[in-house]
Amino acid sequence: MTAPTNRSAWEMDRSHALHPWTNFGPFEDQGALVITRGEGCHLWDDRGNRYFDAVGGLWCTNIGLGRAEMAEAIADQARRLAFSNTFVDMTNDPSARLAAKLADLAPGDLNRVHFTTGGSTAVDTAARMVQYYQSCMGRPEKGHLVARDHSYHGSTYLSQSIGKRPGDRVEQFRYKEDGIHHLSVPNPYRAPDGMDEAAFCDHLVAEFEALIAHVGADRIGGFFAEPIQASGGVIVPPQGYLRRMWEVCQRHDILFVADEVVTAFGRLGHWFASWDEFGVQPDIICTAKGLTSGYIPMGAMIFSDRIWQAMAADGARWFTSGFTYAGHPVACAAALKNIEIMEREDLLGNATRVGALFETRMKALEALPLIGQVRGKKLMVCVESVADKATRALLQDEADVGKRISDACEAMGLMVRPIGHLNVMSPPLVITADDVDFIGDTLETAIRRVA
Ligand code: PLP
Repeated sequence: MTAPTNRSAWEMDRSHALHPWTNFGPFEDQGALVITRGEGCHLWDDRGNRYFDAVGGLWCTNIGLGRAEMAEAIADQARRLAFSNTFVDMTNDPSARLAAKLADLAPGDLNRVHFTTGGSTAVDTAARMVQYYQSCMGRPEKGHLVARDHSYHGSTYLSQSIGKRPGDRVEQFRYKEDGIHHLSVPNPYRAPDGMDEAAFCDHLVAEFEALIAHVGADRIGGFFAEPIQASGGVIVPPQGYLRRMWEVCQRHDILFVADEVVTAFGRLGHWFASWDEFGVQPDIICTAKGLTSGYIPMGAMIFSDRIWQAMAADGARWFTSGFTYAGHPVACAAALKNIEIMEREDLLGNATRVGALFETRMKALEALPLIGQVRGKKLMVCVESVADKATRALLQDEADVGKRISDACEAMGLMVRPIGHLNVMSPPLVITADDVDFIGDTLETAIRRVA
């Protein structure tokens, strides 16, 4: 192809890159915003504009950007040992130390760690592990998986088939349909008419029981759930829902897989939210994002001693799954430093304290025209726009209103993420009370302009 001469990043990108989750039309017209620098909660573009990044990268820049000690830890490890695989019988020091650290931080007997390249590959591997474990237990038929509508579990073929956000299933792609079942989204704001939260919770649990009766408990092996459904719209389930779904799983030997790709590493003020926030002891936790605060790609699947023992009972078995970069020493060194910083600066405590202010300030936006509901917990919040607050009917330009609000925010130096008629936020855990005021005031102005 043509040799580049003085081409701008914007132009090269627009001519050659296929971005993730891209709508071709607007991309061809406008190209992309070129980000050149990040520090703390702020980003700068190539024209020198500064933005407060309330998106937190993509639910991931938990310790904030531009940390010199992260750069040093990464460079130091790259100089010492940039790569060594962890297949079969090899390991490296940061990988071993990180596995032990995660076992320490994870709830209950989740003492076993399998490293992946990100969240999708953690979920994908968990689905395979469910089937492997159930087979080892003498139940090879228990291969069906259950998840929920509006969930997002990643972008590999299998993890995307487990997820099911509205609008994601375009006709050009195929999805695995057989053996994957989706229950209703546990969104109290859109509960069937007349149902209060407690009745809705009963209804959702009964739906799960009915599915098990229909498909057969002897065929269902795993239930996948984000404790709070993140990009499906920050859906905080009814009180007690997760625990009751977990109890159903326990009664039927269904593994509970908590997708904590977003909710772990402080976003809800805990290392992991399943137990500390919702009283659920999962069999498997999938995580990524805040594990390295986005400094390096990495994920992990953390699973129980019980699963390990079942799989290891016959020492001649092979777990034939894994990625070249599993336990990558540089990624593990970054994760270890990231966790050390969170501990030293009590960022989980900050997420709890400032998260409470954030929740309250954002909730006040419900008084504005256009805003049907503001929901979320701590540093995970979503603003939902509607045409009619009483009926909760959606706007005619439902697909665009979030983008119009985020564009108005961007013009005032604030980034919030549009997803159709929603705007979601997941700021870094280093956020301050002043930042909360800035986000609240800016978003309020933007909503008034758009309404
Ligand atoms: N699970 C959840 C809940 C997520 O939000 C995401 C990404 O946003 C994933 C899984 C996939 O993670 P990754 O993009 O690192 O593959």
